[in-house]
Amino acid sequence: MPSLQRLAEIPVREVKRVGEKRAEALAALDITTVLDLITHYPRRYIDRSRQADVAGMAIGEESLVLARVVAVHSRRTRQGRALVELDIDDGTGRLRVTFFNQAWRAKQLPVGTEALFFGKLDSYRGKRQLTNPVVDLVGNRTGRIVPIYPTSEKTGIAGWEFGEWIGEALRRAGELDDPLPDHWRRDLDLMDRTTAFHAIHAPGSFDERDRARRRLALDELLRLQLEIVTRRKADEHDARGISHRIAPAPAEDDLVAAFLARLPFSPTAAQIRALAEIEKDLAGPLPMHRLLQGDVGSGKTVVAVASLLVAVQGGHQGAFMAPTEVLAEQHFLGVHELLGDLVVPDSRTLAGSRPLNAVLLTSRTPAGARSKLHEGLRTGAVDVVVGTHALLTEDVRFASLGVVVIDEQHRFGVEQRATLRAKGRDGANGADPDLLVMTATPIPRTAAMVVFGDLDVTELDELPAGRSAIETVWARSEEQEADAWQRVRTEVAAGHRAYVVCPLVEGTEKSQAKSATEEKQRLEETVLAGLSIGLLHGQLKASEKEGVMDAFRRGDLSVLVATTVIEVGVDVAEATVMVIEDADHFGIAQLHQLRGRVGRSELPSWCYLVSASSTPEAATRLQALVKSTDGFALAEVDLELRGEGTILGARQKGRSDLKLASLRRGDRELVTAARQIAEALLDEDPPLETTAVLADELRLFVGDDEAAYLLKS
Ligand code: ADP
Ligand code: MG
Repeated sequence: MPSLQRLAEIPVREVKRVGEKRAEALAALDITTVLDLITHYPRRYIDRSRQADVAGMAIGEESLVLARVVAVHSRRTRQGRALVELDIDDGTGRLRVTFFNQAWRAKQLPVGTEALFFGKLDSYRGKRQLTNPVVDLVGNRTGRIVPIYPTSEKTGIAGWEFGEWIGEALRRAGELDDPLPDHWRRDLDLMDRTTAFHAIHAPGSFDERDRARRRLALDELLRLQLEIVTRRKADEHDARGISHRIAPAPAEDDLVAAFLARLPFSPTAAQIRALAEIEKDLAGPLPMHRLLQGDVGSGKTVVAVASLLVAVQGGHQGAFMAPTEVLAEQHFLGVHELLGDLVVPDSRTLAGSRPLNAVLLTSRTPAGARSKLHEGLRTGAVDVVVGTHALLTEDVRFASLGVVVIDEQHRFGVEQRATLRAKGRDGANGADPDLLVMTATPIPRTAAMVVFGDLDVTELDELPAGRSAIETVWARSEEQEADAWQRVRTEVAAGHRAYVVCPLVEGTEKSQAKSATEEKQRLEETVLAGLSIGLLHGQLKASEKEGVMDAFRRGDLSVLVATTVIEVGVDVAEATVMVIEDADHFGIAQLHQLRGRVGRSELPSWCYLVSASSTPEAATRLQALVKSTDGFALAEVDLELRGEGTILGARQKGRSDLKLASLRRGDRELVTAARQIAEALLDEDPPLETTAVLADELRLFVGDDEAAYLLKS
């Protein structure tokens, strides 16, 4: 029984009828081995039972016809785009087929060629035509379902050739090794691997195709989870964690209890639950790796600060890193206010305690203050440090770093998170700190298992009481936009504040700043004349930004015209209106983040999404925001719309194996199953034969770097 490993050793040229030239064309598609070939999956499938006659096709409807090319014309449009026009005929009628920017179609479809054409019939100058349809050269293929392979046409390879080669390769391979233990296959009702490969390429029915896809998707996810779980076990093996002492609540002298007691509000049930989960990790011997997901305004900061205090209570230090100066300063102000006159136990002092010492460290901290601050971190005189990237510099050393919190984690690279964590081990007490990362762009839990596989997930799924819902309006017409500006004026008149988010402009930060500056001027001269308007963009110096934010907080400025620099975390409770211009240029998550800057008190709030766009995609996005203010629900919509590519983003490395699996709703149960299987397999002692086979496969798919890592452990 050949393993996938074996198939990866066979050059694609070994397949019958793949000659030198074909092999070259395949190489352009990154297909060089038999394994590459059989994992080159169809992009879509065409149902031939839905085949229509040319005569019977209706305008506006998607249809499929089998027809012969009777004429071909190639030319260029006035704009210089390649234009290929065909006439096709199926005996019942004739049709024009037009291709833009696909000059190669003329060669692919000479007169006399018979092919399947699939697309939506439109009409141009009174003539019925198909524009840029999907084409498949049928060859002598039969069967109801025709697989269409990605980019096969461009390289001059016809769909039927793929079908033939893959069929041949699979026949010759015979029964493939299937490392998935039988009982898992039965439990999950999965096809065996061999059947699945045959069925994904030549399904007898759409149901069979779906079942095949499910099996092969599980294989992809399982490889991924094996990688994640292996890595995690290796980390745990090497870890030197701190078992933090958790005071039995409510202890008199406990910092966390004192902190919670002096909050001007009571924590939500979700905050209490989250903190309990975190404390359990902190008390344990292994360093915590936890992601705190919560919607904008769910109160993550309180949970973060309480976690830092657990470290401080035990004589360790806490570090809180934020991606921007504005945010770090704001967190520091908050922390300072919340911590007030808390005292920490300190046996070196006469009283046995001293005031808690929290400091702010950014690149703006003056040199003199900075070296004092560095000193305090080294000696342990500083308990909590809030800062930006400035925390990452080499001079920053800790006496005993106990807990690290990273806000808006996606703004930092993996290495930056690692750098901060490493400061624990490099410090005087040489231990690994516990790590809490936070994100205000929640994604579904199962998706998080793929994207943040190495992190445990805690969710803050509740907003503090007393928040009024934000009324969101899609301002499509000029009247609606006028309403938005009117709302700004009435709210400002009532003593509240407003944000205006400028249109995104292409190009540099500089051009963005310029456009924001112009927009501010325009508003001052027109719809918002007479109001005191401030400007916030990325090109301002940090001190200028801080000045503007302060003035806005105090109310000296009542309108803030800003770029997306305000997207993250800015917290001004009196802000009740936001107007987002050209809202369709932003993604769902970003709009939701922006909107989260208002509705931060019990005052009624509004968000106007100004956009005249009428594309269905934009409409779906904007309507989703109008309908829901729940970040988790919006994340679902986003995932359905855009797929996983975008959230995988920076973590794409080593994820190229996800060809079939998706993070959309349908595959969620597979993600969970894959995690369970991976954990069960890696818990076996001694390891199963299966695990060795899977490890080999992993190396095939994830590449050498990651494999080297895995083999080490
Ligand atoms: P985010 O999760 O978006 O970071 P923050 O931590 O900034 O949210 O909290 C948003 C606002 O809600 C802050 O002004 C904070 O003081 C307040 N807040 C946090 N927890 C509660 C609570 N349990 N009840 C009322 N207000 C709260
Ligand atoms: Mg926050």
